[in-house]
Amino acid sequence: MVDTLDRAGIVAWLTEAARVVAAERESLGQLDAAIGDGDHGVNMDRGLQTVAAALADAPDDPPGRLLILAGRTLVSKVGGASGPLWGSALRRAGRTLGDDPTVDGVHLADALDAALAAIVELGAAAPGDKTMVDALTPAVQALRERLAAGDELPHALAVAADAADEGARATIPLQARKGRASYLGERSIGHQDPGATSTALILRALADVMAG
Ligand code: ADP
Ligand code: MG
Repeated sequence: MVDTLDRAGIVAWLTEAARVVAAERESLGQLDAAIGDGDHGVNMDRGLQTVAAALADAPDDPPGRLLILAGRTLVSKVGGASGPLWGSALRRAGRTLGDDPTVDGVHLADALDAALAAIVELGAAAPGDKTMVDALTPAVQALRERLAAGDELPHALAVAADAADEGARATIPLQARKGRASYLGERSIGHQDPGATSTALILRALADVMAG
């Protein structure tokens, strides 16, 4: 069991995230087709494939610098709202980590908090607006709670990923108040938000990689 995340852990995380998002590309596209323009699966897949390739070629940099590289790559490769949002999230998380060679649980929670703050700063979404914020917010909260309760990092992350899944599912009855889906008004009710869904996949990838 590993209780810290190092350079290899970041590469493994985002490579695994790229794999699962590629596998779910069609279903993410269908979720977005229901309340948006249908490109979310393609957007995230293209972005994360490019991130995985960039990380495979990346210099021997510490975790924070790799996240900054990943964020920059997403901003430049993804046209939809999710590119700049996830891009600034990962850049902000990376800056929070600085040049530390390893990241422990509390440090990781700080980085995910910083990622959430960057998303909120850029997109101005509050919890309940039916966006990726609805998956990331409960995940960070659960991670902090489990770490404070003394859980090992892999278990705390698994609980955080469960909270993200639950947060994503809980977007179904919500009316979208941000992003393209908000144009639908009440017709956005009854569909799961694609960005919250991919966010839960990305957090599950982190939990799975840490579980080994
Ligand atoms: P686009 O909406 O430009 O087509 P995507 O389809 O890739 O971009 O991403 C849509 C997702 O982005 C939504 O499901 C939602 O989770 C997220 N999103 C959109 N606007 C915002 C916002 N202002 N704040 C947070 N997340 C947002
Ligand atoms: Mg879209």
